[in-house]
Amino acid sequence: MKKVTSADSLIAISHYRNILISEGIPAFLRNEHLGSIVGEMPFQEVWPELWVKNDLDCDRAKQLIDAATIIKESPTASWRCSNCGEENEGQFGACWACEKAQ
Ligand SMILES: [Zn+2]
Repeated sequence: MKKVTSADSLIAISHYRNILISEGIPAFLRNEHLGSIVGEMPFQEVWPELWVKNDLDCDRAKQLIDAATIIKESPTASWRCSNCGEENEGQFGACWACEKAQ
């Protein structure tokens, strides 16, 4: 067993675990039920932790979590249509005005 990462929120760490499980990597949480102890010990020590069952999965697990984090924190940049000059939001693959592909 190997610790992959920890997070300051149970929501985030559960999300990471779901990513790993959906990729076929056995993963589980530690400290997920220790919320009531917060205040009696340094907070960082009771952050929920994500562990993988097989040490060999650890590197891949970290990569998957990094990729998921990057997607969340870096929304695609907006782009300008080369045909009509309209500004389009990053998630659109074609111009909203003239439908030319990006
Ligand atoms: Zn256009």
